[in-house]
Amino acid sequence: MEEREVQPEVNIGVVGHVDHGKTTLVQALTGVWTARHSEELKRGMTIKLGYADGDIYKCTNCPEPDAYSPEPKCPRCPKGSEPVLQRRVSYVDAPGHEVLMATMLSGSSLVDGALLVIAANEPCPQPQTKEHFMALDIIGIRKLVVVQNKIDVVSKDQAMKNYQQIRKFLEGTWAEDAVVVPVSALHKANIDALLEAIQEEIPTPPRDLDSPPLMWIARSFDVNRPGTPPEKLVGGVVGGSLMRGKLRVGDKIEIRPGYAVRSGNKVEYVPLESEVVSLRFGNVEVEEAKPGGLVAVGTRLDPSVTKADALVGSVLGRPGELPPVYDQLTLEYHLLDRVVGFRGGEMKMAPLRRGEVLMMTIGTNITIGMVVDLKKDEMTVKLQRPAVAWKGARVAFSRRIQGRWRLAGWGVVKN
Ligand code: GDP
Ligand code: MG
Repeated sequence: MEEREVQPEVNIGVVGHVDHGKTTLVQALTGVWTARHSEELKRGMTIKLGYADGDIYKCTNCPEPDAYSPEPKCPRCPKGSEPVLQRRVSYVDAPGHEVLMATMLSGSSLVDGALLVIAANEPCPQPQTKEHFMALDIIGIRKLVVVQNKIDVVSKDQAMKNYQQIRKFLEGTWAEDAVVVPVSALHKANIDALLEAIQEEIPTPPRDLDSPPLMWIARSFDVNRPGTPPEKLVGGVVGGSLMRGKLRVGDKIEIRPGYAVRSGNKVEYVPLESEVVSLRFGNVEVEEAKPGGLVAVGTRLDPSVTKADALVGSVLGRPGELPPVYDQLTLEYHLLDRVVGFRGGEMKMAPLRRGEVLMMTIGTNITIGMVVDLKKDEMTVKLQRPAVAWKGARVAFSRRIQGRWRLAGWGVVKN
């Protein structure tokens, strides 16, 4: 198999209001249903980051956009043509539920571009349509395709009216000229036009392959079935996306801040060292991984330290080459003008206060932080859980307003 047929080269976030069809769209683009966890299935809702890989093929006989398909066969050339693989994409399915904003933000830190899914059968914008759109801006994502979904349940007039609302919503923003593609994710209608838009609007960014590898851990697992005899146990697995550099089977690795050890009221984080024993994209094992796609890294770690997402928010790299771990971050910060993300309009954002407790999202690391020092555009936040960070890194923060954490602003690390 060619390399590009294994490792995805670009990560695309799928964001938007709950029930607008994000998970269904990922399925239409990949054939994989991303809500796999039993709790998620029970509640019919994505609560963790889901991800699935999908292909973009182009038929050499057909005009655009008909030529595009997620499958290596062209639906319009029954006698067979040989569609050419353009790109393999990793889609990161974000939870759209309002209480899971921090998870959405942590997912955004892994992606190169986004699909903003908006259902055509509801007035636009809905609260998390706005909030997720703001979040993309805050994280610095500028490559966007708007997907107008559920086109099958509205009349042509309703679809046009909804389209005008979408245009009005985007007017005057960085995404004013964004392409809007009408689809039915459920009936897989117009997916070809969406793939064409993805090809044109969300290019694969240049990658830094020469720096030491650095990966935010987005998932971590114990992949052994209960009752596996000790001699058959395999080591812990961590999943994430490389920000830079390459990782090879056999590489020595370090994970920081690492594993939380509790004694009484105190929590200490123990850095972990191990070795890469396997690398996997989907079901395919590879010898080397680069940025692009979500990679599962098999290690020699005791699986009890990786189970149940215990290492989410840590960073993986080569021993001694990771950025520092901080208990306290000084940020040059920007507060949103208005609080968005709830029904009944918007309200003005109050200034931050010293002593206020914030929810910080630093890559995939989500932690409570207390504002211990505050100047005009600068704050120092004491973190409940330490974080790997570096000068210039972007951090998002939420505030507790009317009973839940709401996206409030962003900062740039000055430490
Ligand atoms: P999410 O919360 O954004 O991930 O939304 P889901 O993908 O779970 O979809 C929510 C509901 O909308 C499900 O019952 C889907 O079957 C339905 N749905 C999603 N896309 C479409 C569509 O294009 N047309 C119709 N009619 N229903 C859809
Ligand atoms: Mg979902």
